[in-house]
Amino acid sequence: MNPNAEPSLLSFIFNQLYLVCAIGFFVSLKFLASPTKARLGNILGAGAMGLATLLTMIEHPPTDYVGVLLSIVVGSVIGVVFAKKVQMTAMPQLVAIFNGFGGLASVLVALAEMFKYIFGNAGNFSEFFLVTSWMSVVIGAITFTGSVIAYLKLQELIPTKPLMMPGQKFITAAFTLAVFMGAYAVIAAPDALLIWLLVTVVAFFLGVLLVIPIGGADMPVVISLLNSYSGLAAMAAGFVVNSPLLIIAGALVGASGIILTRLMCQAMNRSLTNVVFGAFGNALVQTQTGDDKPLKEFQPIDVALQLKNANQVVIVPGYGLAVSEAQRNLRELVDLIKTFGVKVSYAIHPVAGRMPGHMNVLLAEADVPYEELFDLDSINSEFESTDVVIVVGANDVVNPSARTDKTSPLFGMPILNADKARSVIILKRGRGRGFSGVENPLFTLDNAHVLFGDAKASIVKVINAFKELA
Ligand code: NAP
Repeated sequence: MNPNAEPSLLSFIFNQLYLVCAIGFFVSLKFLASPTKARLGNILGAGAMGLATLLTMIEHPPTDYVGVLLSIVVGSVIGVVFAKKVQMTAMPQLVAIFNGFGGLASVLVALAEMFKYIFGNAGNFSEFFLVTSWMSVVIGAITFTGSVIAYLKLQELIPTKPLMMPGQKFITAAFTLAVFMGAYAVIAAPDALLIWLLVTVVAFFLGVLLVIPIGGADMPVVISLLNSYSGLAAMAAGFVVNSPLLIIAGALVGASGIILTRLMCQAMNRSLTNVVFGAFGNALVQTQTGDDKPLKEFQPIDVALQLKNANQVVIVPGYGLAVSEAQRNLRELVDLIKTFGVKVSYAIHPVAGRMPGHMNVLLAEADVPYEELFDLDSINSEFESTDVVIVVGANDVVNPSARTDKTSPLFGMPILNADKARSVIILKRGRGRGFSGVENPLFTLDNAHVLFGDAKASIVKVINAFKELA
């Protein structure tokens, strides 16, 4: 767009339509915060983005329509295939790789713009243009390689534990310094192509260095942070190509990503520095308890008996529910219990599972009525009057040591008070620990019993046991 051009009626109309798209993004985000409106929010956001793309193509006709349309078709096909095929437990990886490509797009947009000016001998670059181009390249490149490492760790294609090499901190500090010096260099010599390429390469390496020392289990928080970076890179790219809509969209992604990162850290009682510098990571690779305190075992028939005779039951779903994909069987069991006049509620911890809203999404998939889901604050006072709590593949979110054990990495994290119920039944496969890698004293309490096995298989067995009771 030529900034000196007279504003015409046509550009006024375009600007109003861009504003409609921006409002669409805001409303979409608002809707995404509500489980009942999230689907509509998604459609609205995609619609606003579609309209924005169309308007941009009309306002600035591309020289190669075929290339643009082909990219849209290929991108859409990849999106649909991934959305249909990817397992819920692999969602963080998918988000990581999407963030990564968002970052890479910002790098390419900023470099393309710079190349256009350098090879077009445009001369006068404003400092603002140079700084935003530098930001777009650097943040985008860090987001790309950081996200690729996060993806590889989560997919277990490289070791998930924190990887450190001798002198890592100094190397990272040197690369960070080099990237910042790059900002001075591009302002001093804006048309030096080599400097731009060097800054890009150094930022690509920095992305690897920043994420590689973080433990795989901390990756969901890092992904949320990288998501925020991808937004900031897009925002910077918006300044580079003078697109207010891209600036707004990028700022929204950047802000929502950082809010989410903060919420996840708060719910895990961790500081962002603690996550980013991997202090917690080393403990996380340990997944077996090794302790031999006796666990009292229940058989499916014992579970069915307790559930049938209860007045009030609370279900606590966790990561294991997602692993075993037992949400539909769980719903079936709950429907069955309800036929005996039992009141059943689901207690949803904000960080249960491995991504924000993980349990809400799983249970929505099984058409569990939203009114039956209660968050931590609203259900915690209910446990004392609850007859039976069924913990389905959850561990850390019901670990009572978070209240008392100052040495526990979970100390201070708000937990669901499952231990306060009259009886607690835990569905898990063995003695595996949760994400934090720490022991859970809940499992050995007097009122606790374990039904061993994959959650889905155990639930099916309990449903069958009800038939024996009939
Ligand atoms: P968790 O502490 O990770 O525990 C999961 C439990 O599920 C384990 O005890 C495991 O024991 C069991 N399990 C695994 N597969 C199973 C299967 N197929 N059937 C039955 N049980 C199975 O889970 P959580 O209580 O949901 O806590 C989430 C943790 O992740 C928190 O520490 C949270 O801070 C962290 N986190 C969450 C997010 C988020 O956004 N939600 C992001 C980052 C980190 P067995 O191996 O013995 O079966």
